[in-house]
Amino acid sequence: MPQLPVTEIFSSIQGEGPYVGVRQIFLRLPKCNLRCPYCDTPTALSQYMRMETDPGSGAFERKKNPIPLDSLSEMLRSYDFSIHHSLSITGGEPLLWSKDLAYLLPLLKDKNIKIYLETNGTLPEQLLEILPWVDIISMDIKLPFANQTFWNVHETFLRHSLHKEVFVKIVVNEDTSIDQLQNVRDLILRVDPSIQTILQPVTPTGVIKAPKSLQLIQWQSFLLRELSMVRVIPQTHVFMGQL
Ligand code: SF4
Repeated sequence: MPQLPVTEIFSSIQGEGPYVGVRQIFLRLPKCNLRCPYCDTPTALSQYMRMETDPGSGAFERKKNPIPLDSLSEMLRSYDFSIHHSLSITGGEPLLWSKDLAYLLPLLKDKNIKIYLETNGTLPEQLLEILPWVDIISMDIKLPFANQTFWNVHETFLRHSLHKEVFVKIVVNEDTSIDQLQNVRDLILRVDPSIQTILQPVTPTGVIKAPKSLQLIQWQSFLLRELSMVRVIPQTHVFMGQL
């Protein structure tokens, strides 16, 4: 039986993007292929995962990793999806576990559980392995950092994602430049200018500072000249104290 290491499973309120405010079950998987300077999520592989026993209660039980996929399926199916919009598969970078997810996700489909994938948008081949079972894709477009750029791989990923509901999210900070946003705009224009685009001001950490409100206004105006839907949405779970 295939097995998957899990970080945590819990019920909470989506705090990013156009689905902000909806109630979801979150399946957080470990590890990431990037090292974003503003990363605020745990990515380490742990010996134990934690699972919220009563959804939304904050009460957790621990289970030893990795979890057999039939057990994981039963754990997820035990949640009440009549009050949850979808299952958010998040990380880390969940597509690092695409082969395991390709086994797990079909086990959930008979319960009509909507699958919402949160991804950094850099693993297009892995996306194809699970695309048939995904309903909504929240794709990051990463601005360059540590001398790395992701434009080409993001474009391939976004083209694959067009077969599903997709929106893109760009985390911006005080040092974001109009040249970077021009690259984002051109990338989206090449794929489909109607793709919903979210500018997400970074939640400040250490030396990373949030953009000023005037910067956000100017960047949104710049993008709106060519793209049909550009919204500015900060992370809401942070100030609500949600997971
Ligand atoms: S892609 Fe996400 S999880 Fe990975 S380092 Fe960046 S912010 Fe963290």
